[in-house]
Amino acid sequence: MYVKISGCRVVDPRSKEAERVDVGVKDGIIDAVGEVREKADRVLDAHGDYVCPALVDLHSHVYHLGTSLGVDPDWVASRWGTGVFADAGSSGAGNFAGFLEHVIRRSSSKIYAFLNIGFGGIPFFGMHGGQQAGEVPDMRVADEEACAGCIEGNREHIVGVKVRVSENANGAMGADLVRAAKRCARRAGVPVMVHFGRPPPRVEEVLSLLERGDILTHAFRPGPNSIVDEGGHVMREAWDARRRGVVFDLGHGSGSFSYATARAALAEGFRPDTISTDLHAFSAASPVVSLEATMTKMLGLGMGVEEVILAATHTPAAALGRPVHGSIAVGRPADLVTLRVSAARKELKDAAGEAVAFEREVKPVLRLKGEDVRRLPAATEP
Ligand SMILES: [Zn+2]
Repeated sequence: MYVKISGCRVVDPRSKEAERVDVGVKDGIIDAVGEVREKADRVLDAHGDYVCPALVDLHSHVYHLGTSLGVDPDWVASRWGTGVFADAGSSGAGNFAGFLEHVIRRSSSKIYAFLNIGFGGIPFFGMHGGQQAGEVPDMRVADEEACAGCIEGNREHIVGVKVRVSENANGAMGADLVRAAKRCARRAGVPVMVHFGRPPPRVEEVLSLLERGDILTHAFRPGPNSIVDEGGHVMREAWDARRRGVVFDLGHGSGSFSYATARAALAEGFRPDTISTDLHAFSAASPVVSLEATMTKMLGLGMGVEEVILAATHTPAAALGRPVHGSIAVGRPADLVTLRVSAARKELKDAAGEAVAFEREVKPVLRLKGEDVRRLPAATEP
């Protein structure tokens, strides 16, 4: 079976520009990118659309039914263009085996994990009365030994260490927990992903602990404690961290993305390296919806189409240390999505409650996985 996607655009990660190509898929394997010579059994007209590797969501929560915040990755993938989910700390050393057995191995999506420095992952999220019981209420729960051992035993699946530090997660503990996560990550030779929120700790202190390849998620969270200082400028510590190679990830979530912070940062040329959802049971219906909706927001705030595509494919795949997921190459099994950027007035809220009507929308159209070709339902919704 030979499938040809005709007239689509593909973004070159090096030039950051899109070129018009045809893509040929032979028996589920990518056979040609550019000109397709072989006679196709099926031709999919994708003129004007972008063809991308299945989207890579660097911050999601997919320990479905094992944690209160988990969503079903296969349900998400049946509607939207995400094919690779990085779970951000839903599991810790104490319950990673369940995540592996019941979700990672059974899902048709590709799932990687940032292992929580907290032994039990994120067990209390959504608990009645808010999030006052954080997953690491005291340092005894941050078992560095167990965390490093679990990573060592699961290199194929675990790509880094996740740590949540904010007043509601750990009270006054502050940056000590980031130091513990960094010690563990260094031992294992993987990056850390840090969630920050209401202080303590201050974001300046968190940034000072991060090295090349480490990830600051919720990078455009609303103040107080955002990367934009009181004068409305991106703080020096954020620019310094970017120069060191720290990855700034959007991580939308239910409370961690604000148009105000994003506008101030974009005005000074500070773009997110990666666009991710922090999709979970309490953010999925609203305000996040999907990775495409999050891309729509950044497009509307001033990023280019090519930029938002790379920030949801090539760059997060590299941040995971799995660049294979971030590009389209001949000889690889096909896992592709076509995206359409269309004129549509779309009102979307950030996590601070501000609603903005955007003029263009990113929508997934087709998913090609192996020999399976599907039109995604989101493509036909108003
Ligand atoms: Zn999260």
